[in-house]
Amino acid sequence: MSRRRQIYEGKAKILYEGPEPGTIIQYFKDDATAFNAEKQGTINGKGVINNRISEHVFARLAHIGIPTHFIRRLNMREQLVRQVEIVPIEVVLRNVAAGSICKRLGLEEGEPLPHTLIEYYYKDDALGDPLIAEEHIACFNWASQEEMHDISSMAIRINDFLCGMFAAIDIRLVDFKLEFGRLFDGDYSRVILADEISPDGCRLWDMKSGEKLDKDRFRRDLGGEEEAYREVARRLGLLNEEDNGPGEVLDLSSHRSRLRGTPPVKK
Ligand code: UDP
Repeated sequence: MSRRRQIYEGKAKILYEGPEPGTIIQYFKDDATAFNAEKQGTINGKGVINNRISEHVFARLAHIGIPTHFIRRLNMREQLVRQVEIVPIEVVLRNVAAGSICKRLGLEEGEPLPHTLIEYYYKDDALGDPLIAEEHIACFNWASQEEMHDISSMAIRINDFLCGMFAAIDIRLVDFKLEFGRLFDGDYSRVILADEISPDGCRLWDMKSGEKLDKDRFRRDLGGEEEAYREVARRLGLLNEEDNGPGEVLDLSSHRSRLRGTPPVKK
């Protein structure tokens, strides 16, 4: 690892030069950040789980015809991806009100939205990734109209597919963030799905209990983040039952009680 050329280190991943031109290795770290990196910590084993979950999701999206940067997983923490020029826009899809939209518009968390919303945020840490309108994207030339057409139609398809995929395992896809990149072929370029899709960038609620199975456990100091990420992987069929340890059953009840302000259920 040390002899490879590092291209970039982000909050949750490191990018290294890949073995062939036009490829990159994504290394998934256990580091977690929230609130524009004001809160920092580690979620043990997160990198390993996110690598697996993202591989699974990207492979399934490729099956329905979504072009993605994913080539193959290399090992526990690394995957080989196509090198792209990241479009400087975070695309957020929302099915249910949660997080920043609640604060911004005074909505109650958990309120289903009348229809799926797409929001765009300008990727700029110094500015705290501000919410922008499509007008800004065109005005400042962050992406062409054709690219935005492709991005928004892919985003809607991805949301529809993922809502079904998660519903099948009793998880509600509340909202999530996507990033796209330009893949160049001579003078021509097209946008493809890039980055990762994992509980770091999604809100995933258990359908029955409402339990949060995503990074909000870290953001809101709910505890149980490792178990929650593993639970998502387990339900997706990516972990063997024995990976939970012999006889160990996932139990978020102590965290759940903290969440709801009620004492843990005695067993
Ligand atoms: N999100 C993300 N990275 C960001 C901002 C948001 O992955 O830099 C994801 C986040 O996990 C959630 C969705 O996008 O699933 C919507 O986030 P929101 O705007 O509510 O912001 P937050 O409450 O996370 O600050």
